[in-house]
Amino acid sequence: MAPILVMRDIVKEFGSFRANDGVNLEVETGEVHALLGENGAGKSTLMNILYGLYQANSGEIYFEGRPVKITSPKEAIDLGIGMVHQHFMLIPALTVAENIILGMQMPRGIIDLKEASRKIKELSRQYGFDIDPEAKVWQLSVGQQQRVEIVKALYRGARLLILDEPTAVLTPQEVNELFRVLKQLTQEGITVIFITHKLNEVMAICQRVTVLRAGKVVGTVATCNTGKNELARMMVGREVFFQ
Ligand code: ADP
Ligand code: MG
Repeated sequence: MAPILVMRDIVKEFGSFRANDGVNLEVETGEVHALLGENGAGKSTLMNILYGLYQANSGEIYFEGRPVKITSPKEAIDLGIGMVHQHFMLIPALTVAENIILGMQMPRGIIDLKEASRKIKELSRQYGFDIDPEAKVWQLSVGQQQRVEIVKALYRGARLLILDEPTAVLTPQEVNELFRVLKQLTQEGITVIFITHKLNEVMAICQRVTVLRAGKVVGTVATCNTGKNELARMMVGREVFFQ
């Protein structure tokens, strides 16, 4: 199958510092693809470029086979790309439904909250979430807020979902629940890019992994035929052994 996403030779500089130094990434449709690397490796930068938050200095992006220029999150969303950031971007004083439809263009300026609530409830049921569309976001736990962010992306029609270190804020039980949801999403043909620095997570749910180190890709491998030690070596650039 053709890759859903190709990023080619991406360079991103902050001043004279290169956060992404000629990065190549290919993601297949319907896989959970890990972006693995230590803190500062350039993972979030690369995905912020894909989501239109940062502009690359150079490089090309192909989405579903077509070359694309993504200059804002709105353009990314319109293409079918969703992103759940490490720090959520919800407005606490607004309800779940208000947050989800916020900034979406409605025909003739009409915002149909009732219809939005109905669709949010339906998506929640589909993925086993307990989301009340009328609840204020400040009332929700961090795990619930993450689920709202996921529903928000799906509501907007994401076919590629980027999750930036999603487990950092979750309890172990919530992590299991998230992994179940990710499996369901891929069974439905939705592609997931899973940013992490945790090897166990990569081994648990990702089919393939691209390892970033100091702004460069070390390699892309299948998790089924790569051991944890090998991945760790790729990530940190020296031998690491687990007991
Ligand atoms: P990761 O997500 O892998 O931890 P990041 O992509 O966030 O890494 O950051 C890669 C490098 O780029 C880091 O050294 C970080 O300090 C730097 N960086 C990221 N965003 C900015 C920014 N907006 N301005 C300046 N430097 C940045
Ligand atoms: Mg990051």
